[in-house]
Amino acid sequence: MPTLAERDHSVLWHPYTQMQTAPLPVPIVRGEGSWLIAEDGTRYLDGISSWWVNLHGHAHSHIAGRVSEQLRTLEHVLFAGFTHPTAVELAEQLLVLLPANQARVFYSDNGSTAVEVALKMVLQYFHNLGQPERRTFLCFRNSYHGDTFGAMAVSSRGAFTQPFWPLLFDVEFLDVPVPGREQEVLSQLDALLARPDVAGFIFEPLVLGTAGMVMYAPEVLDELISRCHRRGVLCIADEVMTGFGRTGPLFASGLLPREQPDIMCFSKGLTGGTLAMGLTTCAAPIYAAFLSDDKMKALFHGHSYTANPVACAAALASLELTRAEACTQQRQRIAAAHAAFRQEIEGLPGIRQVRHQGTILAVEYDPGEGTSYFSRLRDAFYQLAIDNHVVLRPLGNVVYLLPPYCTTNEELELLYAVLRQMRALVLDFLPAPTLPEYLHD
Ligand SMILES: *Cc1c(COP(=O)(O)O)cnc(C)c1O
Repeated sequence: MPTLAERDHSVLWHPYTQMQTAPLPVPIVRGEGSWLIAEDGTRYLDGISSWWVNLHGHAHSHIAGRVSEQLRTLEHVLFAGFTHPTAVELAEQLLVLLPANQARVFYSDNGSTAVEVALKMVLQYFHNLGQPERRTFLCFRNSYHGDTFGAMAVSSRGAFTQPFWPLLFDVEFLDVPVPGREQEVLSQLDALLARPDVAGFIFEPLVLGTAGMVMYAPEVLDELISRCHRRGVLCIADEVMTGFGRTGPLFASGLLPREQPDIMCFSKGLTGGTLAMGLTTCAAPIYAAFLSDDKMKALFHGHSYTANPVACAAALASLELTRAEACTQQRQRIAAAHAAFRQEIEGLPGIRQVRHQGTILAVEYDPGEGTSYFSRLRDAFYQLAIDNHVVLRPLGNVVYLLPPYCTTNEELELLYAVLRQMRALVLDFLPAPTLPEYLHD
């Protein structure tokens, strides 16, 4: 009898995976709080919320209850010409919590589509206003906004998208205004804003996830947005990863001292990690530019499963948990534990930098010279985590924690222990003239 992993291997094609060389996938049959339970009973601690989606733990009974109730009431209905209670209720609740200028909610299926919708809103906004020459987007050089074509176009021109480069529309890149580089990036922005064709600026607020949890301050983002606004450039906050409490407050944009984004994108934690759903919200003037006697000024975008009632029910149930005082306390507790761990390891040999924002902690290890070691170091880190029954996905020499909010202090300690072992591995790695056995291909 072939195992589940072997059966998978003969029929499936996994994302971001070189299928020829990848080891067999870990077969997970159950989830429970912060834990994933494998077919053979091995328990793995989910240190990255299953790709940044889970908020309150796996197979959460409150969310499961609301979802199954909704499934028996209304599983789906088309969303043009029809509506339903969970879609309306979710939009009403979100608009109360979002920055005050957000006025409308547009549903889609995932983070990439939420970004596509945002880009199309910006382009058609200027088209509808009779300024079609405004069509250039600004974005951060190592940003990530998704894997569909528009989202790839406004993301870093990295190795993953190289086969598609010739087909991606041109954008203008800004460096990330990390501490010490703020003035330089503001000057880059000023130079670009002098052009007449800039339409929008899309950014991951405060934390660039896929870039390696690169962090920058709300004050400089506020200044970037303010300069865009003076030029009539629309600002899109891609909160697909940062939304729903990851960075501390409900939304990273909530930390901006003065400005508010014009458009916001959400997915991942939106349903507590239960079902796929995306949404794009916008300020009233953007919505108003689509109102007309002319049918062609409407936003012609939609997906078959737009505003799926079951996904909306999961989102409502998750939001209820996220808004509870207990969740705020959990996030504060995780942030405090991260801060203490940062104190412990910052500045030690083998550690280049430790970054921390809310429930997100990133350790950038210092593997010495020679970036060619990065990918082998990454694989060694990954294996070390799995050997310790911990799920982490290192980004090169950066290892980050992004745990579900239910993760206890004892569970966090298991994650920190693995990060300490990784430092030991880097230290071994540094002076060694020959590579340790496990680093050989
Ligand atoms: C994950 C992510 C996306 C893409 O979301 P998908 O649901 O995977 O398509 C977009 N933007 C950011 C910031 C993300 O982290």
